[in-house]
Amino acid sequence: QVRIYSRSEHSISRSQISDHALKVLYRLQKSGFDAYLVGGCVRDLLLGREPKDFDVVTNAHPEEIKGVFRNCRLIGRRFRLAHVHFGNEVIEVATFRGTGDQQNDNQVTNDEGRLLRDNVYGTIEQDVWRRDFTVNALYYNIKDFSVVDYAGGMDDLKSATLRLIGDPETRFREDPVRMLRAVRFAVKLGFNLPPDCQHAMHEVAELLNSIPSARLYDEVLKLFLSGYALQTFEMLRHYGLFQVLFPETEKSLAVEENGFPKLLLIKALQNSDNRIADGKTVTPYFMLAAFLWEPVKMRTRLNRERGMDDYNAFQSAVGEVLARQVKSTAFPRHISIAMREVWSLQPKFEQRLGPKPARLLTHPRFRAAYDFLVIRAQTGDAEPELAEWWGQFQLADEAMQKKMTQPSR
Ligand code: ATP
Ligand code: MG
Repeated sequence: QVRIYSRSEHSISRSQISDHALKVLYRLQKSGFDAYLVGGCVRDLLLGREPKDFDVVTNAHPEEIKGVFRNCRLIGRRFRLAHVHFGNEVIEVATFRGTGDQQNDNQVTNDEGRLLRDNVYGTIEQDVWRRDFTVNALYYNIKDFSVVDYAGGMDDLKSATLRLIGDPETRFREDPVRMLRAVRFAVKLGFNLPPDCQHAMHEVAELLNSIPSARLYDEVLKLFLSGYALQTFEMLRHYGLFQVLFPETEKSLAVEENGFPKLLLIKALQNSDNRIADGKTVTPYFMLAAFLWEPVKMRTRLNRERGMDDYNAFQSAVGEVLARQVKSTAFPRHISIAMREVWSLQPKFEQRLGPKPARLLTHPRFRAAYDFLVIRAQTGDAEPELAEWWGQFQLADEAMQKKMTQPSR
């Protein structure tokens, strides 16, 4: 049964809601439709956090939404959504979705229980049950500023519990990506996963293998550019999810020598968390390059043992690792090109004499590759003295640079 929290019983005030989202809500209401904020934005507002974006749901159908807004585009094939544009802010407006009950032949699952299609419109009462977690299924009603709670999300929010709506294993089977979302929200919000959810995750973790690699890439970005990459990494490994995303990395962690392989990765994750905490940006290719560095080194060693020279052993290792990785998480081409560059510059740092070092400074990827070298040096994978030399060299004036690269007689 539903619980309705009136304006005086919750903490969401209109001043915290984006003007554009309010505009959309009011306009839908004026046109005779129901309109609610839903999902992450309601959750975050109730927790006193700033929402990333504002999602609206309504009983208006996509064509009707389009009729209300001039600045509106319909997107999505499987399930049509409206995007209402205001400069560079986009408010996503979705129509309530139909139920997930078995008699409904608009919902189709495969043998493993994965949802293949669910494209019916419904009511708010039905829309609730297709959502993943109770705290993601709270609706802020523009009509009376109340929060509508069908799934017990308010209580879970108060006790910091990330609870799936319905039976955890069934919900994970329907969409295994929900396991990644569970980890992401648990870490980001500092919420606890109930025992039955944890159990289900151990149980069906491998179903994540069936998810298209492009969708996994999107999730990987959200997981590791969240500002909590290190904790996320640990939790993904705990549930056996990390090996699906980065199988070669997982293997390399098992053959850890002197603790070094894991150290480099952890250092990179810590660095990126620190950068995000400082309001700086983190580039996905840098993080991915760190994830896959150990596999590259392992394959390089293997290729050398097979008789390849150093250069070819390294280059073909890079190719092999990238080819293998895109089967799990398909990153776009510009990302793999950048990773390849960061890696390929590493051996070049060894060359400190003559005109080459000065030329290396002008390489578009120098900065990232140098940062990578620093992390390697911090974790025993490169000579600290080498990283220091490059640190000084890039700051030196031309005369000093000449001196630094002159062969000593
Ligand atoms: P954030 O945007 O902060 O990452 P969010 O909760 O808004 O978190 P979105 O991916 O923007 O997450 O999705 C919006 C809402 O849609 C969710 O809150 C949830 O109710 C629903 N949702 C999204 N993905 C799924 C899914 N895989 N299964 C079930 N419901 C989902
Ligand atoms: Mg969202």
